Amino acid sequence: MVHFVGAGPGAEDLITIRGKRLLEEADVIIYAGSLVNPGLLKYAKKDCEIHDSARLDLNEVFEIMKKAHGYKKDVVRLHTGDPSIYGAIREQMDLLIKDKIPFDSTPGVSSFCGAAAALQMEYTLPGISQSVIITRMDGRTPVPESESVEALSSHGATMVFFLSAGDTKTLSERLINTGVRRDMPCAIVYKATWDDEEKYICSLDTLAETAEKHGISKTALIIVGEAVSQSGYELSKLYSPDFTTGFRKGKNDA
Ligand code: SAH
Repeated sequence: MVHFVGAGPGAEDLITIRGKRLLEEADVIIYAGSLVNPGLLKYAKKDCEIHDSARLDLNEVFEIMKKAHGYKKDVVRLHTGDPSIYGAIREQMDLLIKDKIPFDSTPGVSSFCGAAAALQMEYTLPGISQSVIITRMDGRTPVPESESVEALSSHGATMVFFLSAGDTKTLSERLINTGVRRDMPCAIVYKATWDDEEKYICSLDTLAETAEKHGISKTALIIVGEAVSQSGYELSKLYSPDFTTGFRKGKNDA
């Protein structure tokens, strides 16, 4: 059986308990070496066969899975963060389905959650933004026109850009040209939750120079939105003394 497992954003203890157990039991581990913390491999059995998928193409990854399945071995396919976000898992799953190889999936802590933790930030501040847009700027992988940086920014929601730290100049220019204020708060979080994590708060017009000054061009998230300032918000209804919920009666509620 093949287990897709989310490794979490970086810190070794941010994998789930289930993910760790699957690593401990695996006969074969295929991990995304470009982003997964290699420290997680210490959970592997002594005789576990380990492959770094950074050096493999889709067919080569699949061949390893298929061969292991033939020997009734358990395979863990270890993806960074949560596998459902830019994990390229669907194409692997479809090959497995075609060959009737069973698989399951274990979620992980995505790096956008790791970045919020690093910034001690709430993405969904009442009165500021109640939505988080997880997206990327188009690069070698195109983005549908309706999801362009320009189109999505019109919502004014908190935006988290994956896979876009390599060209913060274009990203900020496109956002400014489409009408986002130049002093819109932004954050750059590099290697969130790793030992060498770095985080910077800046504004849209200083985004590119901040990234350049600190030599950041990959393994980083760019967060854009009013919520980055973590101020000017309204208190939540849920914990308001006057608000009645299914669990608690508001103080002034007759
Ligand atoms: N599935 C992963 C994302 C994979 S795409 C997840 O859920 O996090 C790879 C991109 O994710 C990187 O280019 C970077 O933008 C982001 N990323 C992954 N790990 C990161 C981390 N620890 N800190 C900041 N960004 C990270």
